[in-house]
Amino acid sequence: MRQKGAYVDETTCIGCKNCAHVAPDTFYIEPNYGRARVFNQDGDSEEMIDEAIDTCPVNCINWVDYTELKKLEKQRKNQVMRNLGLPPKR
Ligand code: SF4
Repeated sequence: MRQKGAYVDETTCIGCKNCAHVAPDTFYIEPNYGRARVFNQDGDSEEMIDEAIDTCPVNCINWVDYTELKKLEKQRKNQVMRNLGLPPKR
């Protein structure tokens, strides 16, 4: 069992889908915002997640310890972001 988890900084993610292709049992594109999110911390091997982290074009995926992960996931609920698939509201 890993003592750390992968976390996507969705405010920086550009929704390129690379991570969801490299580690498809870990990352998906969250439909409300069009940005990547981890849906299963144990879905893929650490090597596959490392590859997703290393190949993210904006370096917005990080390993964090589980205490930090729970804190970040809680904070994420209050984030206000534009859906990358939709034009900004005027
Ligand atoms: S690879 Fe990085 S920028 Fe691309 S969708 Fe995943 S987290 Fe977002």
